[in-house]
Amino acid sequence: MNMDLSRRAFLRTAGAGLAGTSLGALGFGEVEEAHAAAIRPFKLAATTETRNTCTYCSVACGILLYSKGSLAKGEKAEIIHVEGDPDHPTNRGTLCPKGAALLDMVRAETRLQSPRIRKAGSDKFERISWDEALDRVVRHMKADRDANFVAKNKDGVTVNRWTTTGFLAASATTNETAFATYKVVRSAGILVFDNQARV
Ligand code: SF4
Repeated sequence: MNMDLSRRAFLRTAGAGLAGTSLGALGFGEVEEAHAAAIRPFKLAATTETRNTCTYCSVACGILLYSKGSLAKGEKAEIIHVEGDPDHPTNRGTLCPKGAALLDMVRAETRLQSPRIRKAGSDKFERISWDEALDRVVRHMKADRDANFVAKNKDGVTVNRWTTTGFLAASATTNETAFATYKVVRSAGILVFDNQARV
């Protein structure tokens, strides 16, 4: 069935209150799609669309985030809707149940929104800024590398190994980011290198 259905025609023929899912269950899948397409402009009017990547798993599906409130105007931005990105080559607009429920994760009161540290001897975590977190990571990596880097093995062969720090890369990145990550990690001599896709 190939239907070119305008919103007005659909509402006239099907009735505004007729659920698209019922039609879908009856085999009218395209009517259901037309119904969803007819509603979307109203639901998402005056929102800002932002492309992103689902944070849940290594499939890294493309998502569209719709938010209200302009940061540029000093307003608080709030995500009100999440859906699959139809232009993304991996998922082409689809999302699995976890991805479809991303809005719940975004709004979860328990979601961490900033880095935290537990200082030596402390029994609680403290919030720190991203700048401070990145500075600390870099400082610790430098100190560990300086102390443990192995330039040559016992036979005098150059090996340039750094085995006391490991690196876990994310799969929700672009090819370019993955390439740069690999270059940085391997050129630093890190051998223990894995990816979220295998976890
Ligand atoms: S939508 Fe599902 S399959 Fe896709 S990245 Fe998210 S959790 Fe993974």
